[in-house]
Amino acid sequence: MTATLPDLAATLNGEFAGLTPLERLQAMVARVDGPVVFTTSLGIEDQMITHLIFSNDLPIQVKTLDTGRLFPETYALWRETEEKYGRRIRAMYPQAEALEELVNDQGIDGFYYAPEFRKNCCGVRKVEPLGRALAGAAGWITGLRRDQSANRSDMDYVAFDGARGLIKANPIFDWTRERIASFTAAGGVPVNALHAQNFLSIGCAPCTRAIRPGEPERAGRWWWEEETKRECGLHVDDDGRPMRADNNRPA
Ligand code: SF4
Repeated sequence: MTATLPDLAATLNGEFAGLTPLERLQAMVARVDGPVVFTTSLGIEDQMITHLIFSNDLPIQVKTLDTGRLFPETYALWRETEEKYGRRIRAMYPQAEALEELVNDQGIDGFYYAPEFRKNCCGVRKVEPLGRALAGAAGWITGLRRDQSANRSDMDYVAFDGARGLIKANPIFDWTRERIASFTAAGGVPVNALHAQNFLSIGCAPCTRAIRPGEPERAGRWWWEEETKRECGLHVDDDGRPMRADNNRPA
């Protein structure tokens, strides 16, 4: 009898601890019956995963959400990465009509003025395109790391995403930022020039700032909002509720 996706997720989760990141990606391809998609934000973690996929010619679709508000450095890295590996990173864009309505309704930078405006913007520019990026997929690869925040420690390597009906895997979950930086430097993997300017976690330009000494890695994301309100909407719990951006817990 074929294992259900929740059962397969639990099995893979148990196996992942003993595997390398490449072996984890290979296991997803071999064991998940259906398309596997990797969504990259072009951050250093995601660049490592992209390198593993492209260098080993893994049949994993690599997609990115172009919100239209990314840093010039991020677009430059996107181009550089495609040129280096000779592979396309597929772009997902907001729906034109929804975006026009959003901007006409709340202003081009409305996200600064009210939490719901920010959620509206992330909804149109990120969450809806992510849904299309994952449509039809059976597996979803992300670059989440356990030590990105204190409360990610009880997350799993692999889990069944009940809201989206697919297996979500975090192949570098147990890797530190330092270890990833060593990997990318040694392997000549292109990384965002902004990382060297204390932008450790990079999202949209108007919603990301450099962090100051001693601040947590993700402190530069939506810095003007209360910490408990920083939900990005990309990662949801089994009931489809957004996880908080800072710790991936239900908001
Ligand atoms: Fe909009 Fe900022 Fe969210 Fe990007 S991060 S989609 S600019 S609110």
